[in-house]
Amino acid sequence: MQTPSLQTLVTRPDLGLVEGRDALDSAKRSCDQPTLHLTPNSLAMIIVTRPDTTQEQIDHIVDRIRSWGLKAEVSRGEMRVVIGVIGPEDKIREKPLGAFPGVESVTPVLKPYKLVAREFRGRYSHVRVGDVTVGAKEVVVMAGPCSVESEGQITAIAKEVRKAGAKILRGGAFKPRTSPYSFQGLGKLGLQFLAEARQVTGMPIITEVMDTKDLELVCAYADCLQVGARNMQNFSLLREVGRTDLPVMLKRGMSATIKDLLMSAEYILNEGNFNVLLCERGIRTFENMTRNTLDLNAVPVLKSETHLPVVVDPTHGIGVREFVPAMALAAVAAGADSIMVEVHNAPEQAKSDGEQALLPADFEDLVARVRSVAVAVGREL
Ligand code: PEP
Ligand code: MN
Repeated sequence: MQTPSLQTLVTRPDLGLVEGRDALDSAKRSCDQPTLHLTPNSLAMIIVTRPDTTQEQIDHIVDRIRSWGLKAEVSRGEMRVVIGVIGPEDKIREKPLGAFPGVESVTPVLKPYKLVAREFRGRYSHVRVGDVTVGAKEVVVMAGPCSVESEGQITAIAKEVRKAGAKILRGGAFKPRTSPYSFQGLGKLGLQFLAEARQVTGMPIITEVMDTKDLELVCAYADCLQVGARNMQNFSLLREVGRTDLPVMLKRGMSATIKDLLMSAEYILNEGNFNVLLCERGIRTFENMTRNTLDLNAVPVLKSETHLPVVVDPTHGIGVREFVPAMALAAVAAGADSIMVEVHNAPEQAKSDGEQALLPADFEDLVARVRSVAVAVGREL
């Protein structure tokens, strides 16, 4: 069954808008802009305006582009505005985009991914999760247990991680487990407990959606949707989360290349949702001393290829509690915009991933060290 239009179901305008998206663009996107899907014959063009281009000239360019049935995405940099144009190649090529007053250059995006390409926006995207901004100067720490197990458990851990400096609370209510006999998550009850923990701590929550059939339910509670590694190429799920107004954190599949990850993100943006975080969480290699191999190469590569913020999950990346802090620090040094760390107050009793969860005290110690590394690389926390 098709999920009914989530755009109408999820009316949380306070959430998930890319900072800097101009009001006109945002309003038009949700009202009269058709969702234009990129096809093999689609093209994306980047219009770079001059530093002295006026707002009137920009509005004029955008209005004309839209009147031709093409899509325009406006990004404001410090010095100039970049307008991404998307539509069928034959239609775009015949338009005199370079002839408008105020235009400095017009360049096609030649990469297989277009909307996620860094040049498409000309600046890094800031993604809002509740009242927290990911992708700006501040390195954002997300933390919480692997699974939500009870109201007491999630609320206690939420308070601990909040005190230590986490800004976003994580916790799975729908768990993708290798074995069907393992704990599968509390489902709706888990979401309710997460909402309770949000209420108590004020932290926005990120939680996984595994299936399109649960999307409406998860959207009713989450501030950010997580698409897990095992679902990175579940294209129908990617399309559906792309139709919501919530930010989405897309985790890299365990045997996916960086390009695969970018192509999957492209599915989400192509549905109109530009609020996407990319998460490196370790890949499978021949190495078996650790759960996965955290591919920190992905961080600088992604930062150069895409405007989307990059999150690193050192917990699943290495999978061994004592080594998680080193990789969290390395992730921030490599340029991650955010880290996601699993924390549990009684890891030996955890229903999933206890062996890799940090104790709250160790997490607190880690955050202090993350702050030092962040400052050393020109960020803050
Ligand atoms: C998780 O975040 O708990 C999780 C299941 O992650 P991944 O999809 O990366 O395995
Ligand atoms: Mn986990």
